[in-house]
Amino acid sequence: MKRGLMDMSQISVAIAGAGLSGLCLAHSLLRAGFNVHVFESDPEPFARRQGYRVTLDEYGMAGLQKCLPPRLFELFLATASPTDEDSYFRVTNQDLGEVFKLTFKGDRSGTDLRTPRQTDRQTLRTIMLDGLQDRIHFGKKAVRADLAPDGATLHFSDGSNTHASLVIGADGINSALRKQLLPDCDPEDANSWGIYGRTPLLHNGHSIVPGPLKTSGVYAIGKSGKGLFFTTMNFRESPKTAFSRFGVEQLPPISDDYVMWALLLPKELFPVSHEKLDSENLLRFALKTALDFHPVLRQFVNQADVECTMLVKLKAARKPSSWPVSRITLMGDAVHAMPPTGSHGGNTALRDAALLAEKLKAAASQGEPLEKAIASYQAEMSQYAFREVKAAKAMLKRFSIQNPFMGWVMLRAMPWIRSMKNKPLTTE
Ligand SMILES: Cc1cc2nc3c(=O)[nH]c(=O)nc-3n(C[C@H](O)[C@H](O)[C@H](O)COP(=O)(O)OP(=O)(O)OC[C@H]3O[C@@H](n4cnc5c(N)ncnc54)[C@H](O)[C@@H]3O)c2cc1C
Repeated sequence: MKRGLMDMSQISVAIAGAGLSGLCLAHSLLRAGFNVHVFESDPEPFARRQGYRVTLDEYGMAGLQKCLPPRLFELFLATASPTDEDSYFRVTNQDLGEVFKLTFKGDRSGTDLRTPRQTDRQTLRTIMLDGLQDRIHFGKKAVRADLAPDGATLHFSDGSNTHASLVIGADGINSALRKQLLPDCDPEDANSWGIYGRTPLLHNGHSIVPGPLKTSGVYAIGKSGKGLFFTTMNFRESPKTAFSRFGVEQLPPISDDYVMWALLLPKELFPVSHEKLDSENLLRFALKTALDFHPVLRQFVNQADVECTMLVKLKAARKPSSWPVSRITLMGDAVHAMPPTGSHGGNTALRDAALLAEKLKAAASQGEPLEKAIASYQAEMSQYAFREVKAAKAMLKRFSIQNPFMGWVMLRAMPWIRSMKNKPLTTE
């Protein structure tokens, strides 16, 4: 008998990981009538500080739009950055002399999803937790999944397990399920580590970002492979007022505009004892390392929130040579982690969620085997996702300029030529 829409509740889905892709998929499948549960290793929603913003592009936003209830998607748009003005991605030398810039046309209507937006990660996550309260189980660390008759069993570190028609590993870069399903595909070290931080945008009532840079993401290339990136998180509408306007009770932890910065360094420049560095010492090390950079950039590090400073070891996924199809599959960073250069990791994860949901819904409504949907998802996703991994790795390499002549051209000659016809970026 063909499965009709009414039978979707017979299909149970266990998702390991309540991050961007896991929550997005959960919304889409729940709305279609599937029986979905999400298992998250953190003991509570905001157990870890993930105090940074994420740039969402057309793929990420299309993923959200397809999966979230329209009300929550509207709330996302209300709290993301405004799009009225053009925005830029600028590459500069360490003195903020511009090497080149990419321009993204503004959109006054605020509805064109081709215009990228900044969103605060915790705000987005709070939006995506809404409506899933009785579907998410915190403190459940997935350790492995086994195939079982008509589905799979997901096992947890506390010894418990759950059976479902499908198990999805959305458990991030250190995915336990990937280690099991694709044991040769642990992400490789990108040899570059980042110190990420957050700094309030206003200091004594004044913005710490000079006017010409307020809608820019800037990557300043320094010496010895160092780089300092920053961008501003401006909320279109304060999350506090927007959440109350949309009737969402749980408020996100952050409501004020901020600057997110990241100091990227070859890993050998880190002290040997880096594993032991707490946020305070990490920030102290960042301050010392940022001394070569323009005072505007140093100020971000100087005035950062200590407890939001974190170390991220950049990694890049290895493409599986073959990926067997079963009732267990993977999404997002669990399968295609990539360095944040280019800002595609989260976007690709949201794209996966929308694609997998679409394939599963189509198979279920047409009475086709779920394996067929998974095969088609894995094939299509591998194409676009590993293209992004390759591009992110290449961009990271380009920014850590090794060739002295190229370094001279890019970091001295080009900024000098551009300074002849443009005002300095730090002009108010
Ligand atoms: C500082 C920084 C800046 C970034 N900026 C951007 C950007 O601008 N644009 C962009 O597109 N991407 C960006 N990314 C990448 C983006 O954050 C990730 O690609 C994205 O979060 C991946 O989503 P995911 O759902 O696969 O994994 P995650 O969002 O990492 O979610 C994984 C979830 O699984 C949980 N988990 C882990 N292990 C287990 C387990 N064993 N059992 C159960 N649960 C588990 C975790 O606690 C987490 O909640 C950035 C990343 C970093 C670190």
